[in-house]
Parts: sequence; C-alpha cells; structure tokens
Amino acid sequence: MKPTARRLVVVGLLTVQLATVALLVLVSGRISAEAEDDHTVALLETAASEATDRTRDYLAPAASLVATTADMVDGGAVDTAALERAFIGELERSPQLSGVYLGSDDGSFFFVSRAASGFSVKTIEIDGGERRVTVRAVSADGRRGPAVIRPDDDYDPRDRPWFQDASRNASTDVEWTAPYVFFTSGNLGVSASAAVRTADGMLAVVGADIELDALSTLLAGLRIGPTGSAVIVDDAGTVVAHSDATLVNGSPGDVAGTVSASELDDPRTRAVIGSLIAVGDREPPAAAHFDSPDGAGIATSRSLEVGDQRWTIAVHAEDGALVRSLTDARSDERFLMLLVGLLGFLLIAVLAFPATRPLARLERRATRDALTGLLNRGEILAQGAQVAKEADLHAAIMLDLDRFKSINDTYGHQVGDEVIHEVGRRITGALRDVDRAGRVGGEEFLVVIGETTPGKALEVAHRVHQAIRATPFETTVGELEVTASVGLGVAVGPGELQRTLAVADTALLEAKESGRDCVVSGGMASGLRGPRRAGDTSDA
Ligand code: GH3
Ligand code: MG
Ligand code: MG
Repeated sequence: MKPTARRLVVVGLLTVQLATVALLVLVSGRISAEAEDDHTVALLETAASEATDRTRDYLAPAASLVATTADMVDGGAVDTAALERAFIGELERSPQLSGVYLGSDDGSFFFVSRAASGFSVKTIEIDGGERRVTVRAVSADGRRGPAVIRPDDDYDPRDRPWFQDASRNASTDVEWTAPYVFFTSGNLGVSASAAVRTADGMLAVVGADIELDALSTLLAGLRIGPTGSAVIVDDAGTVVAHSDATLVNGSPGDVAGTVSASELDDPRTRAVIGSLIAVGDREPPAAAHFDSPDGAGIATSRSLEVGDQRWTIAVHAEDGALVRSLTDARSDERFLMLLVGLLGFLLIAVLAFPATRPLARLERRATRDALTGLLNRGEILAQGAQVAKEADLHAAIMLDLDRFKSINDTYGHQVGDEVIHEVGRRITGALRDVDRAGRVGGEEFLVVIGETTPGKALEVAHRVHQAIRATPFETTVGELEVTASVGLGVAVGPGELQRTLAVADTALLEAKESGRDCVVSGGMASGLRGPRRAGDTSDA
C-alpha cells in the first residue's frame, strides 16, 4: 500500500488515540495502585497501633500488682489475710490473671489462683525450720473453706525461674518470662515478677501468671479483611498470640508446647515474619510487601517492650482486601477509560475517511490526469525519473494518436475526449501493475517500464499499439477506428529518463513520418543503434 497523505493522517490519528488511551490506563493504574497501597498501610498501621495499645493494657495489671504488694510486705511480717483480699481483688479485676503469688527467700509462699468455683489459696509457712503447706478454697462470694494440710507438697518458690530472675534483678522492675504452657490450665501464658524488699532486708518476689489466649481473641477482633491476620511474636520467634487461636499451642487441651513463628501453619504469616519483619530486629520496617503461596499482601509491624524483651506485633492484609471499594472504583474507571477510548477510536475510524476526502482529492488532482485517470505529466516524469535512476534497464514508450485533430473537427471536442478517455483505459489494460503510464500532452501518452529486456520493452510497445487499433472505439457518434504511432527508447543501467525520452521522441517522429499507425524502436538511449521501424510486421 502506498502511503498516501490521507492514509498517513488517518493511521496517525488512530495511533495517537490508541497511545493516549494506553498511556492513561497505565498511568492511572499506577497512581491508583499507589493510593491503594497507602490506604492499606494506613489501615494496617491503625490496626497494629490498636493491637499494641491493647496488648500493653493487657499486661499492665502486673505492674500495679507489684506496687500494691510492695506496700503490704513493707512492715516485714506479712499480713496474709490482707494479702489474700488484695490478691483475690486483683484476680477479680483482671480476668487475664490466672494466679498471683508471693515467695520469700526463706521458702515461704503465698499463692491465690482461679479455681472451678472461686479461688484457691495455697500457703507455705516457715516457722523455725518447720514447713507447713495448706490449701484453702475461697468461694466466689468470699466464703472461706477449711485449710487442708498438704504434707507431701515440696514446692519451693526459690527454685522457680520467676523467683530467680527477679532476685537477680537489683531493681523492682517487672520481669517477664518467655511464653510457656501453664501446667494447670494448659493455656499459653507468661509470668511477670518483681522483687520487693521488706524493712528487715528480706527479699520477696511477687508474681502473676497471665494467660495469653485472650490476646489471640483480641487480634481476631481487628478489622483487617477476610484473609488478613495479626500475630505477636517474641524476641526468640515464639508465637505469643495469633488471630487464629487454634494455630497457637497452649489452646485448651493442647499442652505440647509453644510454636515458633517459622513453623506456624499459616504461609502468609510465615512470609510476613520470615522474610519481611525480621524477628528480633530492633527496627522492623514500618510497612512491607510480602508474597506467599497463599497470596501476596502488605504487612506493618509495631514493637512493644515487655520488660527487657521486645514483642513484635505484625498485622497484614491481602493486596486490595482493605480497599475493595477503591479497587472496584479503579476497575470501573479503567473500563470507562477503555470505553471512551474505544468510542474515540471508532469515531476516528468512521469520520476520518470522509473528513480527509478533500485531502485525497487534492492529492489525486496533484498527481492524476482528470480525463484519463492516468498519472499527469509532472507525476509520470517524476516517477519515470525515479525508475530510470534505480532500474538496471528501463524503457520509455511515447504514444501519439494519429490525425486526432480530424476526430475533433469531424465529431466535436466532446467525442475527442471520449476517445482520449478510452485510450487511457486501454493503455492501462495493456500494462502490468508495476508499469507506469501518464498523459503528457493533449493526445500524447508516456509509458515507463523498469527492469525489463529490450525485447520485452518492444513487446509492451506493440501491445499498447495493438490495444488501440485492434478494436473500434464506442463513442456517442458510433464506432470510430483510432490508431496511434508509438516510439520506443530503451536504456541499460541507471540513467536519466530525459535521454531515453529523447530517443523515444525521435522514434515517434519517425513513426509519424513513415506513415503512422506503427511502432518504431529508437534502440538504446546511448544512440549506438539507429531508429528502426518495427510496427507493421507485428501488427499483421
Ligand atoms: P498527427 O499527430 O497524426 O500528426 O495528427 P494530429 O491531428 O493528431 O495532430 P496533432 O498531434 O498536432 O493534433 C493534436 C490535436 O489534439 C490538437 C487538439 O485539437 C487535440 N487535442 C489536444 N488536447 C485535447 C483534448 O484534451 N481534448 C480533445 N478533444 N482534443 C484535444
Ligand atoms: Mg496526434
Ligand atoms: Mg500530438
């Protein structure tokens, strides 16, 4: 297809339209994706902050417990009745506590824990080397049962980690154990403990057992989409809580032990913890993308100081889950953009052709002869010159109608035009698509052919000649016999059309002089061969 100006304009318009729509969709997609990410991160940050604050609150009663207890043991002789009331009060206020206790460095121990109906109070008294262990039930409404002596109980608080940790600590700061599974309840928990000193210098350690399953419930309550979840891990990578409580060992009936984040039965959380938020990393990244076999998403994390440990609270959501409405709006927007783009494309496709018709007409007028539709003089000379420059061999065939003036004179100019129009048709019919034909004068025509042999060129000249003379012309005044004289010039090697034309012109002149209605080959443009009459022989 020849790149006409019209085609260039139409294809150009369509291309610009397509490119614009593609660019818009791409850029808007990128911008919206960033906005979505920002929004998701903001929502996750809020959830992580909330989880962190509530976890801190959850652990807080331990601190107040130490403070109250320190007041009570201040005098040296511990008032166990007052201590019992204080501990029971603490258990009533803070459901996360499963037991509170006080151990001293003489081996005495006071322990209040939750029981099936109310509380259980265990006491170890040391009196002059004598050790007495008693257990007493206290009902929920405060009624105290009888003290039951437990001679076989050899529990010694000084052996316990919480006691040793706290006694090593010179300060009265609260110390926290790593998560472990409580023996009595089978639930995951931590113990908090702190040293208090009596006036006579004796060391006591106050402690509390805190069950962690409620933290999992808290995490499950965060609004982080259908597949999002939250997890708390400690410095060592042990799972403290997970929004799916069943994944955390220590859930009732399962006392197998703690779970490490790296073996958690949740690929998303593993990906979040393992690759994005380095466990124990003091500065976890604020927000990070993660990819897992179960899906990709964004995670944020916070860290919480728990004594001298640090817990990481990580919250994540599946890509797009928290911004479903944004995502939907985005795909609507994209659909609209495509629709508008497509309409624009169709509109251009439909309108551009009629709209550019004048352009096509103008272009045709500039290159074509109006009467015959052949190339006009300027165009055939320009295209012929190009062929002459590129082809190894080219030929120019000049054709002039014989005694055309008499047709005009006899039948009128209108009939002369009919003949000229038909001549154009017949010349085109005698040529291949690649050959070029033009009207160079009133009733003079030029055919330029490239990449041919002198014999083939002569053949074409005869074919054109025959095309005119062989059949009478149908005109409005009836059939007319028309003939033409033809002159042929051939040139070998790239060269100038003008020189070949001169040869063809001379040959045409000779054809006229030798009686018309014939083909004369002027031979090679170099002029080595003289004019030779070739018409009559092949016409027979
Ligand atoms: P010959 O070439 O055989 O010597 O005789 P001729 O009668 O064809 O002579 P010439 O080539 O000199 O005459 C050309 C004539 O063609 C003159 C002019 O009236 C006529 N002519 C030129 N252009 C047109 C045209 O566009 N339409 C018509 N109808 N006639 C034209
Ligand atoms: Mg003529
Ligand atoms: Mg003429």
